[in-house]
Amino acid sequence: MQQFLQKLKTQPVMSGTSTGQAFWHATAADGTDSLLDSYSPVDGQLMARVYPTVREDYDKVVETARAAFLTWRAVPAPRRGEIVRQMGEQFRQYKKELGTLVSYEMGKSLQEGMGEVQEIIDICDFAVGQSRQLYGLTMHSERPDHRMYEQWHPLGVVGIITAFNFPVAVWSWNAMLAWVCGNVCIWKPSEKTPLTALACQQIIKEVLEQNDVPEGVSCLITGGRDTGTWLAEDPRIALVSATGSTRMGKAVAQTVSARLGRYLLELGGNNAIILTAHADLNIAIPAIVFGAVGTAGQRCTSTRRLIIHESIYEDVKNRLVKAYGQLRIGNPLDENTHVGPLIDQAAVAGYQAALFQIKEQGGRLLIDGEVLEGPGFESGCYVRPAIAEMPAQTAIVQHETFAPILYLLKYGTLDEAIELQNGVPQGLSSAIFTLNMREAEQFLSTAGSDCGIANVNIGTSGAEIGGAFGGEKETGGGRESGSDAWKAYMRRQTNTINYGTSLPLAQGIRFEL
Ligand code: NAD
Repeated sequence: MQQFLQKLKTQPVMSGTSTGQAFWHATAADGTDSLLDSYSPVDGQLMARVYPTVREDYDKVVETARAAFLTWRAVPAPRRGEIVRQMGEQFRQYKKELGTLVSYEMGKSLQEGMGEVQEIIDICDFAVGQSRQLYGLTMHSERPDHRMYEQWHPLGVVGIITAFNFPVAVWSWNAMLAWVCGNVCIWKPSEKTPLTALACQQIIKEVLEQNDVPEGVSCLITGGRDTGTWLAEDPRIALVSATGSTRMGKAVAQTVSARLGRYLLELGGNNAIILTAHADLNIAIPAIVFGAVGTAGQRCTSTRRLIIHESIYEDVKNRLVKAYGQLRIGNPLDENTHVGPLIDQAAVAGYQAALFQIKEQGGRLLIDGEVLEGPGFESGCYVRPAIAEMPAQTAIVQHETFAPILYLLKYGTLDEAIELQNGVPQGLSSAIFTLNMREAEQFLSTAGSDCGIANVNIGTSGAEIGGAFGGEKETGGGRESGSDAWKAYMRRQTNTINYGTSLPLAQGIRFEL
């Protein structure tokens, strides 16, 4: 990986556009070099110092992107798909290096880091196919000698704001589809993971250059909340696709709405698994543990609540305590590790505050949390995954704490379980474990889960790119990735063509001169 990092340093792609050279070495607005420091939560080391984009450069980036759009939108969609296919090949080539960098900068396990790059590869493949399927419908006109149909056109500049926990995959879900649809993209990654974003831009740079893709089709700007706000406020940004906390989503939605712009939001989740009396616990327990502790509980789809039928409650509890006893916490780059660190000290403080509130709200910790110390834990970001029995769905259970804390709740009837499952402000992912067909179908019915994702006999986390991904309520309502999510990146135009010699009006209206 050192070589890979070295390559990033020698061929810089900092705040700027496709090649990045234009805006290399930007300084902060006050003239100082106020850098974004990227510390690894794995060992606490400073990995890189990245120049944040200043407002003046931001404006140059947007203008370069707008100019590129005029060329890019005229490139046939399958040709754009071919360029995305080549990007997929590049990511295949750099899977190990980028996966390792994701793991080191974000703290997720090496397998999950690689999995994230695999998601990029998968969405590239998907987008290539999509580039030949940007279908519009044909309708029968009520008027004689008329034809009516709809077509989809690109929007323009798409702003992509991403969260730290999927530092590269979420960008690719948006960018690959946005590109085949004919848009140009400006990516603002999380200020906590700027290096992986720079790496992605570097990886695709060659493809952009080899295909004479105009400067500005793939742009990267770096910075924090303020930089994200520039995108939200800017009427030149046709679509703001923002992934992150509900707090961020509310701010972005209000700002973009004030200018009647378009937004696509992918926000927090508070995902539950219902375990019925008919659950196959041999598959349920590993799914629960992976969902709750994978990525140290920092997935938007992490399993946070377990709603357990009273008849199996004690059995499930005992099995979980046993399974948690086997967890290996440590360096995520070690393949034997189950649980890596939280992203930073602020996340650790949030975890500690939640543990305190659990006790205050009548919860009982079956496995108490703690911040780990000693050799290997120098970054101060490693915590023990906790399990709490809760008397009810109290305030802390309703809240998404981005850490490995699993809440246990007991239920009697399936109606009660579904009410608990739906009784939180978020609506991202949900699951039921049952071998009973009636229970499964009720859970999937209109009277069942209110989430964007509802699974049977698999956990809440680990979605495939082929389906539309996203959730309801405070999760923001957006859908990304597969199915027909591409439509969010295009504008629909209805066309009516008169090939006759008269001018009949719709609804039979007569107008004669
Ligand atoms: P965050 O909200 O702190 O930051 C996310 C991004 O938004 C960052 O790039 C940040 O700089 C930017 N930002 C913050 N405030 C902003 C504002 N007011 N205007 C514009 N941009 C702003 O989130 P995070 O801590 O990086 O990520 C964790 C959260 O993301 C969790 O809530 C998680 O559930 C959610 N998430 C959701 C999905 C999903 O698909 N639903 C996927 C990944 C993460």
